[in-house]
Amino acid sequence: MSKFWSETVKGITPYVPGEQPGVGQVIKLNTNENPYPPSARVLDAMKAAVSGRLKLYPDPECRGLREAAADYYRLPIENIFAGNGSDEILAFCFKAFFNPGETILFPDITYSFYEVYAGLFDIPYRKIPLDDHFDIPLAPFFEQNGGILIANPNAPTGKFTSLDSIRQILVHNPDKVVIIDEAYVDFGGESCVSLIPDHPNLLVVHTFSKSRSLAGLRIGLAMGQTELIEGLNRVKNSFNSYPLDAVAQVGGEQSLRDTETFELNVGRIIKTREDTVNRLRELQFDVLDSRANFIFATHPGVPAVRLFEALRRQDIIVRYFAKPRIDNYLRISIGTDEEMEALCRALEGILAEQTR
Ligand SMILES: *Cc1c(COP(=O)(O)O)cnc(C)c1O
Repeated sequence: MSKFWSETVKGITPYVPGEQPGVGQVIKLNTNENPYPPSARVLDAMKAAVSGRLKLYPDPECRGLREAAADYYRLPIENIFAGNGSDEILAFCFKAFFNPGETILFPDITYSFYEVYAGLFDIPYRKIPLDDHFDIPLAPFFEQNGGILIANPNAPTGKFTSLDSIRQILVHNPDKVVIIDEAYVDFGGESCVSLIPDHPNLLVVHTFSKSRSLAGLRIGLAMGQTELIEGLNRVKNSFNSYPLDAVAQVGGEQSLRDTETFELNVGRIIKTREDTVNRLRELQFDVLDSRANFIFATHPGVPAVRLFEALRRQDIIVRYFAKPRIDNYLRISIGTDEEMEALCRALEGILAEQTR
């Protein structure tokens, strides 16, 4: 605590990202990165941008990237906003659409950054408990609120909420913004981008960090009707007019244009996920149905924290959350087949030892 800090900074609890170890032989399954590299087209365009135009400011409107997104999602370009990672877009959303004094809603188990932003922007919130199957209950989201934030598929459960449920939430909240964070939707969910034309209160947020193998570049998109996009632009242009650098803009654009590499990698990850789920269930793990590039699993015989620590000693890093209701679960990102094979072998060994 420092006397120089503002009251806000004294009061906040910052987000703690998953460990990013230095060089070494670790198997990193803790932050849901993509195990495959981005396409050659992306890298070539970025190399050209590095040598060509860094002395100039980047396009503040990110037109090339947004045009590619407009084509990909079949939306007008006015319905698309680009940001420096979807985390930054979510931060802008708190400033653009929520008011201090109006309680926003999000699930009790979800992406923990939502709570952090609520603290930073002084927005009161109520956490809606997921049901016993870790599904999102609808009725609490029909009650009076100052806005709604839902990750779909949810993190860290990986569970998907149907578009029909999302539609009901939208219909019950015509005067409030409903933000659907679709960070993982490419791994088998169904995007609610299709609902945008009928719902002026819907904002859909995507990231290039997971399905597009570009976590290091920091690109996110928000999609919604023009008045919501204008709200985000008002915040952006009051904070940093150039949140996306020139290299990221061309890389993101080419990623959207290279659907072949994208679909190939997403397909491989889904296949590896299903194989891993089957293996873990054979080892008696209870694994939630995942539509994401991670799985959420618990074992009836050995506490998750013991598994986490034992894996760490073998240089396999997964994510463990010491939080109510989920402190006996591991969140395991889907890596390559070889990495998941190593994980399953290690778990077999640990279980054999611990349950002996
Ligand atoms: C990873 C993640 C993000 C952040 O994505 P960035 O674009 O890397 O900032 C946002 N929401 C959820 C649910 C995520 O899992």
